[in-house]
Amino acid sequence: MARTLRSPILPRLCENKFLGYFRPKVIDSNFQLKIENGRRSVQRLLTPLVALPGAQFQSLGAFEVGTGKYSLPRFTLRGPNSNDPIRIGIFAAIHGDEPAGALAAAHFLNQAAREPVFVENFLLQIYPLCNPTGYEDNTRHSRGGKDLNREFWKSSAEPEIAILEHELRTQHFNGIIQLHADDTSDGIYGFVRGHTLTENLLRPALLEAGRILPRNVNATIDGFAARDGIIYQSYEGILAVPMQSEPPFEIIFETPHQAPMDLQVEALVVAVRTILSEYRRLISFAANI
Ligand SMILES: [Zn+2]
Repeated sequence: MARTLRSPILPRLCENKFLGYFRPKVIDSNFQLKIENGRRSVQRLLTPLVALPGAQFQSLGAFEVGTGKYSLPRFTLRGPNSNDPIRIGIFAAIHGDEPAGALAAAHFLNQAAREPVFVENFLLQIYPLCNPTGYEDNTRHSRGGKDLNREFWKSSAEPEIAILEHELRTQHFNGIIQLHADDTSDGIYGFVRGHTLTENLLRPALLEAGRILPRNVNATIDGFAARDGIIYQSYEGILAVPMQSEPPFEIIFETPHQAPMDLQVEALVVAVRTILSEYRRLISFAANI
């Protein structure tokens, strides 16, 4: 159920040293997310990204839903000095009615492709549309009728799941970030899983994104116990890396669905940038001692 949003904090330019060069750009969400004749256009989101210098585009899989042909877009970005890269996966719009994540992934990719210094040491795999039919229909579920974010690692027959499970099994991610929006929350928050340092990545991300949208500080969020906007449990069947000896960090970042779209996008982009900068800083620190 949707609640009324507290008046959001006015956006400010980030002064964090990692983000000092970030200036919010005009985000034309009305154009990019417009629904015409009952459908939102996948092409409108992807076309400008395919032409980005340095980003490699690939359509993963091919599957049919009704008379439509679909695949999952993946953009690969390799920064300088990445012989033994930090491998990160960024996943958005597995719920089709949460388009802020797709737009944020697109904006982040656009920025990162133009800033080689920012992506130094990284190999980023960005999946901006994990549920293309739900994105078109503006529905949480895929057109196949499933909540895809409850289908992982349970032998699902959904084609999107087979494609994403293959990526999660074979990409050897050091960390994954998922972008979501919650229509029952009046503030930003996140879930942490995996590596023990994960909460040390989410905490600064909430702090930086909290300059753009308020943080949800309730003791219970989405039915889970929460502390300062951080939840340490999660649902069964969500997008996650399968068990391995050295678990990657796993963060699910949520924005309040009722907040203005542009602020949600900005908050998500700032969160992703902060998580990446902090992770690189923490592991270089660990390597030097
Ligand atoms: Zn979601």
